Amino acid sequence: MSKINVVVWNEFRHEKTKDSVRELYPNGLHATIKSFLDLNEDMSVTLAALDDPDQGLPDEVLKNTDVLIWWGHKAHKEVDDALVQKIRNRVYLGKMGFVALHSAHHSKPFKAIVGTNGNLSWGRNQKEIMWTMMPSHEIAAGIPDHFLLESEELYSEPFYIPQPDALVFGAWFEDGHIMRAGACFHRGAGKVFYFQPGHETCRSFYNPYVQRIITNAVRWAKPNGFGYEITDRCPHITAKTVDEFDA
Ligand code: ZN
Repeated sequence: MSKINVVVWNEFRHEKTKDSVRELYPNGLHATIKSFLDLNEDMSVTLAALDDPDQGLPDEVLKNTDVLIWWGHKAHKEVDDALVQKIRNRVYLGKMGFVALHSAHHSKPFKAIVGTNGNLSWGRNQKEIMWTMMPSHEIAAGIPDHFLLESEELYSEPFYIPQPDALVFGAWFEDGHIMRAGACFHRGAGKVFYFQPGHETCRSFYNPYVQRIITNAVRWAKPNGFGYEITDRCPHITAKTVDEFDA
């Protein structure tokens, strides 16, 4: 069985500058995500960070990535636009799935792939109840009808995303706000999942249901393995790619 090559990309700045975050995620929250994904025999998981060479995603890594998990927050602007274009193209060509976690709603790749400004409303950390809205969905496998997160950052509607192709989870927050918390998008021949929990000072990545959802999302988002190459070239103007037309 060939394994799903997963790269967990993290901005990895908060963990270096804030004691409370480092205590919670001593090797970076991406390492915590890797540690639970590593329990799955069908996955091969590697780490990447913004301050790595080529921002963690040189071409030889990206071209072997089946699912890219993304966590970024305060340094979205530093992510190279050419890299974002490569990520988006790989998703659109059905070569890679993309899983955007928490503050990745404002990340360049999420916005470029899904087509949104990513805006939403924020509030204090508080109790959150995650509700399963599509129990039949692959990403909801093994998840109860609802579960409690003792403390998460309030993310709230209106969340300015296009209508998701599937809304698997919805969140209720203690202050009364609601949020489309787990949303699937099909873009080109690829798949994208956005999942809201994962603030850097909260323990959500240690929650077994959050872990299961991210694990399920990797399997859902992986390329379909269709037996043909999807082209991004017009056959009549063979020297041009779609992106060159965009430019
Ligand atoms: Zn946050």
